Amino acid sequence: MAINIVIISVTLLGITVISFALLQNFLKERKLRTELERLASELEKANGKLAEHDRLKTEFVAIASHQLRSPLTSIRGYVSLLQDGSCGQLSPQADQALERIAESAKHMAYSIEDYLNISQIETGNMQYVYSDVNLKNEVERIVDDLRFQATKKGLVILHRNKVNGHGVIHADQGKVFQITQNILNNAIKYTPQGGIKVFVRDDLVRKKIYVDVEDNGIGMNQKDIHTIFDKFARARNASTVDVDGTGLGLYVAYKMTKDMGGEIYAHSEGEGKGSRFTVEFPMVM
Ligand code: ADP
Repeated sequence: MAINIVIISVTLLGITVISFALLQNFLKERKLRTELERLASELEKANGKLAEHDRLKTEFVAIASHQLRSPLTSIRGYVSLLQDGSCGQLSPQADQALERIAESAKHMAYSIEDYLNISQIETGNMQYVYSDVNLKNEVERIVDDLRFQATKKGLVILHRNKVNGHGVIHADQGKVFQITQNILNNAIKYTPQGGIKVFVRDDLVRKKIYVDVEDNGIGMNQKDIHTIFDKFARARNASTVDVDGTGLGLYVAYKMTKDMGGEIYAHSEGEGKGSRFTVEFPMVM
C-alpha cells in the first residue's frame, strides 16, 4: 500500500515536472514566434522603404540627366561654331582650349546618355522602335564617325565586310548604333597604340550576323571578362589608360542587345594582349 502511494506520488511529481517543462517550452516558443513576426514585419517595412528610395533615386537620375542634356547640347553646338570659324578666326591657344572643351563635353554627353539608359532599364521604360536595319551600312557609318578620333590617337582602323546575305536585322536602329559605337569607342579608348579591326560577317546556316571589334590594346584577365558587362564594372587595368570611365556602357549595351534578341561577348588572351568584342543578331529571313 505504502509502495503504491510512493509510486503514485513519484508519477504525479514526474507528470508535474514534465508539464511544467512543456509549458515553459511552449511559452518560450510563443515568445520566439512573436519576436520573429515582429522582425519579419520590420524587415518588410524596411524593404518597402528601400524600394521607394530606389525608385526616387532612379527618378532623380532621370530628371537630372534630362536637365543636363539640353544645356550640354547647346554648349557643344557653340563650341562647334567657334571651331569651324563661324565666329571669326581664333588663336591656336584658343583652338586648343576649345578642343579640350569639346572632348570633355562629348564625354559628359556619353555619361548622361548612360545614366538615362540605366534609369530607363531600371524602371522598365526602355522603348524599342523596330525596323529593318542594314547592319553593314550602320557599322560603316560608325567607323566613319570614329575614324578621326582613332587617327588623332595614331590608331589605324581596318574595316572589312564579309557579308554574303542581305545583312539586314530587325532591331532599333538608334540602339544598334549605340551598342556598336560603344564597343568601337572602347577599342579606341583602351588601345594606347596599334590598330583596330572591325569585321561584319554573316552565317547563312545559323542565320546570324556578327560585328567583331578586335584591338591590340590593354586586354583583360579572365576574371575581369566575366564581370565587365555588370553595372559599374571596370577591369582593374582600365584606369591605367582611362580614368574617367563609368563602367556603364557595356552594361547598357548588354541589356539592349539581349532585349533585341542578340548576344554580346568579349574575348581576351590576357592583360596586354588585346581584346575582341562580338555582337550578334538574328538575320531577317
Ligand atoms: P567604361 O569604358 O566607361 O569604363 P564600359 O562599360 O564601356 O565602361 O566598359 C567596362 C569595362 O570593360 C572597362 O572599364 C574596361 O575595363 C573593359 N573594357 C571594355 N572594352 C575594352 C577593350 N576594348 N579593351 C580592354 N578593356 C575593355
